[in-house]
Amino acid sequence: MSTAFFPPEPSAELLALPKCNLHTHLEGSVRPATFLELAAQQAISLPFDPLQVSDKLQVDGSEKTLVDYLAKIMVNYQVLKSPAALRRTAFEAAEDAYHDGVIYFELRAGPATHARPGFPIEACVESILAGLQEAEARFGITSRLIVAALRNHAPQTNVELAQIACRYAQQGVAGFDLAGDEAGYPADLHHEAFEIIRDAGLGLTVHAGEASGAEAVRYAVETLHAQRIGHGVHSIESRAVMDLLREKQVLLEICPTSNVHTGAVSSIETHPLKALYDGIPISINDDDPITSRTRASNELMLAHTLFGMSLETIIAIQLTTLEHSFLRETSVKERLKSKVQAFASRE
Ligand SMILES: [Zn+2]
Repeated sequence: MSTAFFPPEPSAELLALPKCNLHTHLEGSVRPATFLELAAQQAISLPFDPLQVSDKLQVDGSEKTLVDYLAKIMVNYQVLKSPAALRRTAFEAAEDAYHDGVIYFELRAGPATHARPGFPIEACVESILAGLQEAEARFGITSRLIVAALRNHAPQTNVELAQIACRYAQQGVAGFDLAGDEAGYPADLHHEAFEIIRDAGLGLTVHAGEASGAEAVRYAVETLHAQRIGHGVHSIESRAVMDLLREKQVLLEICPTSNVHTGAVSSIETHPLKALYDGIPISINDDDPITSRTRASNELMLAHTLFGMSLETIIAIQLTTLEHSFLRETSVKERLKSKVQAFASRE
């Protein structure tokens, strides 16, 4: 059995750093104890012993591909089927981020996956937003939602999802994402949904260059007009795509530990983090913090210890991340930036 890679624990300094996390999935943020409680409340019979819940939901080293990794996340889908469940898990995702020192949090979730008869997509979005707002009121963490479309859903479902996302732009939906099985379902199936988002002025990010090559990144930038790319690690294989990202200043949402767990890179030592950070804006994120047993600060610790990034560089990355966030309110953005700057100039 292979041994799974996990990042180091963060230093007190990196834990205290006011951080920005742009790439976290709700579906990879469900606490195992919450999963069991939600299953019991909804009378869902589990196909496994509750004592095994951590191994069923979290990486244990048996995963070889993105599809294996997604299968662990999909275990959570069965309990995310009620307003209370979505509200609670969104709240807890933001609460966990707050305890990790995150001051700005973009949570992404795929509402079309959780909708069912009597619980439409709109109600899913409202439940998640309610959880984020509750966390903001309680902990002061600024949170926004990115509505995630899944590649394996019908194009018409994603068109409908895009229209709904636009309707909640004033209630906390900041952007739109395309996630899921990249190798099996190309992004071009969903260009119409992206046009709707673009016309409405919401932020656009696309998972690309994770399970497929640099050309998927080019397509996301040139044709879908993505302002940010989820992962994009395979951009490193094309000088032209690197030039494109640099020229257009497209931010790469890098999630190093997740990239090892999904097989996007063969090992953490071969991760191109440093090489990508070459005139191209990057953010460093946790992707699926419960699934991957990590947090934003653990990922920053990894950047510091393994990739030799200085604290100054890591602070600069937080400011870049805020600049490329989908936060539309300039005054909120400035207030958050000043928190990072205050940390940088601390005694
Ligand atoms: Zn992701």
